[in-house]
Amino acid sequence: MTIQQRIILFFILITALLLSVIALMWYRLTLQQELTQAQKNRYESYRLAVQLKNTADELTQMARTYTHTGDPRYLEYYRHILAIREGKEIRPKHYDILFWDKISPEMDFISPKTGTKISFQALLKRYDISSQERTALHEAKKYADKLTELERQAFHLMELASHDDSLSGANRLTAQQLLYGAQYRRDKAKMMQKLSDYFNLVDRRTSTKVQAIAQRTRQIDFAIFTLILLMLFLALFSWFHSRRKIVHPLRELIDWTKKLKKGSFEFEGTIQGEDEIGQLARSFTHMADTIHQSLNDLNVKAHTDRLTGLPNRMALEIEMQRLHLAVKYYGIHCNVVLIDLDHFKSINDRYGHDVGDRVLVHFAHLLQKHIKVPQIAGRWGGEEFLILTKELTCTQAKGLVESLRREVEQDAFPGGIHVTFSAGISPIEVDESIDAALRRADAALYRAKRLGRNRVETQEQDAP
Ligand code: GH3
Ligand code: MG
Ligand code: MG
Repeated sequence: MTIQQRIILFFILITALLLSVIALMWYRLTLQQELTQAQKNRYESYRLAVQLKNTADELTQMARTYTHTGDPRYLEYYRHILAIREGKEIRPKHYDILFWDKISPEMDFISPKTGTKISFQALLKRYDISSQERTALHEAKKYADKLTELERQAFHLMELASHDDSLSGANRLTAQQLLYGAQYRRDKAKMMQKLSDYFNLVDRRTSTKVQAIAQRTRQIDFAIFTLILLMLFLALFSWFHSRRKIVHPLRELIDWTKKLKKGSFEFEGTIQGEDEIGQLARSFTHMADTIHQSLNDLNVKAHTDRLTGLPNRMALEIEMQRLHLAVKYYGIHCNVVLIDLDHFKSINDRYGHDVGDRVLVHFAHLLQKHIKVPQIAGRWGGEEFLILTKELTCTQAKGLVESLRREVEQDAFPGGIHVTFSAGISPIEVDESIDAALRRADAALYRAKRLGRNRVETQEQDAP
C-alpha cells in the first residue's frame, strides 16, 4: 500500500470514528431529553390526578361546610368548582392544587373573563398516558361523580329546609349524614383506590422508561468510550507506523545520500516495500549502481590502452608505486623491464601504419601470454612496453624476458613480418625512487640497442 493510500485510509478511519462519536453523543443528548420528557410527563400525569383528588376533596369540604353553616357562599364555591371541572366555566389561571385553600372568607371568587373552558374528561384526552392509566382515571372520575350525586342530594335537603322551618333541623342532619355516611365514604375510598392504582401505573411506566433510557445511555457511553479508545489506538498506531515506515526509511535514505556524497557505494539497509519510499530507494540504488558501473568503466578505460587492451602508462605508474612500497616494506624483489620494438619505424614505413598497429596488437598478445600474474605487462607508449616483475630476482626476470624475446623472434607476425625487441632490466631498489629505477632500465635498453638490438640487458644499482 502506498503512503498516500495509507494517509487516505487513516483520515477515512479517523473521520468515521469521529462522526460515530458525534452521532452517539447526539443520540445520548436526545435520550437525556427523552428522560426529561418522561419525568415531566410523570409530573403532569401526577398533577392531573391530584387535580381530580383535590376538586373532589374541595367539593366535599365546601358541601360539608355548607350543610353545617348554611352559608350560601360555600354552595357558590361548590358550584364554581364543579362548573370548572365539568368545563362549564373558565378555568382560572394557575388553577393549581392549592387554589381554593387560598380563598379566605373575606374574599369573593370572581370568575375570570378570559381563558378556556375545559372539562376534566377533555383535559384527560390531551395527556399522553397509557390506556390502562386512562381507564383508572375514568373510574376515579366515575366515583367522584357519584360523590357529587350524594352532595346534590344533600343540597336538595338543605333547599327544602330553607323553605320549611319545621323540616330545617331534621333535613340538615340528614344532609350532613349523607356527606359523612358510609356510602359517601365508600365511594370516596373507591375513588382514592383508583387514583392510587393510577399513580402506581404512572410510576411503573415512568420507571420502566427511565430504566430503559438509563440502560441505553450506559450502552452508548460504553460505545463512545470504545470509539475514543479506538481513536487513541489508531493515533498511536499511526505514530509508530509512520516512524517505522516513513521516518526511519527516510533517515536511511539520507544516510545513503551522505555515503554517496563521500563516494561510497555500500548501501546497507532495510528499505523494502512497494510504497513511495520503497520505490525511491530502489531508484536510488539503481541510479547508484549505474553511477558505480559507469565510474568503474571509466576507471578501466582510463587505465587501459585502447589499441592493445593492455594496462596503459597511468596504470603502470600506479602499479610501480605499489611495487615500490612492497620492496620497501616487505623486501620483495621487483624489477622494471623496458621493452622497445626494434626498427619499428621502418615497419610502419614499409607496411603502413595499420600493419604497424596490428604488429603492436600481436606483440601485446604474446606479452600477455608470456607474462602471468603476479607479473604485470603494459604499454608504456608508442612501440615501447613495460613489464613489472614481482618476487623475481633480476636474473630470474632476465630469464623471463629472454624467453619472451626468443618467442617473439621466432613468431610470425601479421604479414609475415619479422619482429624483434630490445629490453633493459633494472631492479627496484629500496633506497631509490621509481624514476631512478626507470632511468637505469632505460640506460640498459639503450645499451641493448647499441649492442645490436634483439637483446636483453640489465643495469643494477652501482655499488656505493
Ligand atoms: P629503434 O630500433 O631505435 O627503436 O628504432 P625505431 O624505428 O623503432 O625507433 P623510433 O623511435 O625512431 O620509431 C618509433 C616509431 O614507432 C615511430 C612511430 O611512428 C611508431 N609508432 C609509435 N606509436 C605507434 C602506433 O601506435 N602505431 C604505429 N603504427 N606506429 C607507432
Ligand atoms: Mg622507441
Ligand atoms: Mg623502437
